[in-house]
Amino acid sequence: MASVTLTHLSKSYGNTSVLKNINLEIQHGELVVLVGPSGCGKSTLLRMLCGLEDITGGELRIGSDVVNKLPPAERGIAMVFQSYALYPHMSVFKNMAFGLKIHGSNKSDIAERVQAAAKVLHIDHLLERLPRELSGGQRQRVAIGRAIVRKPRLFLFDEPLSNLDAALRAKTRIELARLHRELAATMVYVTHDQVEAMTLGDKIVVLNEGEVQQAGTPLELYQQPSNRFVATFIGSPTINLLPARVLEARPDGVRLQLEDGSRALALVDGTALCVGESVELGLRPEHCLVDSQRMGQDDTALHAQIALVEHLGDSNLLHLKTDGGQELVARGDGNAAVRLGDAVIVRAAPESLYLFRSDGSALRRLMPGNMRSANVH
Ligand code: ADP
Repeated sequence: MASVTLTHLSKSYGNTSVLKNINLEIQHGELVVLVGPSGCGKSTLLRMLCGLEDITGGELRIGSDVVNKLPPAERGIAMVFQSYALYPHMSVFKNMAFGLKIHGSNKSDIAERVQAAAKVLHIDHLLERLPRELSGGQRQRVAIGRAIVRKPRLFLFDEPLSNLDAALRAKTRIELARLHRELAATMVYVTHDQVEAMTLGDKIVVLNEGEVQQAGTPLELYQQPSNRFVATFIGSPTINLLPARVLEARPDGVRLQLEDGSRALALVDGTALCVGESVELGLRPEHCLVDSQRMGQDDTALHAQIALVEHLGDSNLLHLKTDGGQELVARGDGNAAVRLGDAVIVRAAPESLYLFRSDGSALRRLMPGNMRSANVH
C-alpha cells in the first residue's frame, strides 16, 4: 500500500479548466472520499490518478514515485467502476482470476489469491456461478474481488454502489468499511452522495467546480465547514440560511438582527466582521427546537407557521414559514401532535448556529461539539 500526493494538480480540455490547483495528501492506509455535485470533476480526478486521463499541470506521486507519465498498467492501481464489467461467460472464479492469468501468475498462486479474496468478501460459495446467476450486490463484490486479488498499491472506486438499491447500498457500504480495515488498504472513493461519504470516509474531500472546498474528517466538515458550499452540501436536510445584519461583533460571539426584526446570538469568532455587515445565519434542521420549554436566555426565537409535515416515524420534518416570510425546515419530535397551519416558535441555541460572510466564507464556530437539542436524542 502507498501514500498518494497531489501537488498543484490541474486538468484542462482545450480552454476549459476542469480541475484547478488540487493539493491533497492521502496517507498510507487511508480511505479518502471525493464528494461533490455532478460535473465537479470527481471522475476526472480519479481517472488522472489511474492514468486514464493526462495530467495538464502539477505533480502526482504514488509513494515516492512521480507517476504523471506512467501508463495505467504500471501504476499498481486497481479501479472498481459503477458498471461491474464482469465477463458474462466466465465463472466468478475465472472473472477474479483473469487479470492474474494475463500477468502470467502461476495456477496455484492464482487459486490461493482468489480463494482468500472470495473469503474476505463472503462469496467463496459462489465461485462456480456465472455473473447472471448473481444478485447486483454479489456482482459488485466480484468486481471488488477482482481488484483485491491483484494486491494493488491503491484502490480507486468510482461510484461503485450507485446501481444497488438503498438497503443493499447501506449494507455494502458497511462491508467496504470492514474491507478497508481488514486490508489496511489505501482507497480513494468517489461519490456524489454525501451520506455515503460521511459514513465511509476517514477523510472527505469536498469538490465544487474543479476546486477543493475543504478536506477533513466527517465531523470537521459538519461542525466546522470552511464555507457556505460545504455547510449546505453536508447534512440532510440542508442547513437553513437566514439573511441577517451584524449588530455587534466580538471574538467570543456575534449579535445579529434577522429580517423579521428578531435578534440572534451566534457563538462564532466575529473578529473579521464589521457592524452593519450583511451575513447569513445557518441553522441546521436538527438543531431547531420547536415549541421547546428548554429555553436559553440568548436563544434565537422565530415565530413561524407549519406549512408541511413529513412523517419519518422517529421524527418529523416540519416545513415552516416564518412571520418574516422565510422558509425553514426543522426536525421535530415524531410523537408531537402537529397540524398544518399551527403557529410555533422555533428556537436555536447560540452554540448551534453557523455564520457566513457575503463571499461565502464561514466564521469559526466556538463550541461546535457542544450542542443542546430538545427534539433529537
Ligand atoms: P463528475 O465526476 O464530478 O460528475 P467529471 O469529472 O465527469 O465530473 O466532469 C467534470 C467536468 O469536465 C464536467 O464539466 C465535464 O463536462 C467536463 N469534461 C469531462 N470530460 C471531458 C472531455 N473529454 N472534454 C471536455 N470536457 C470534459
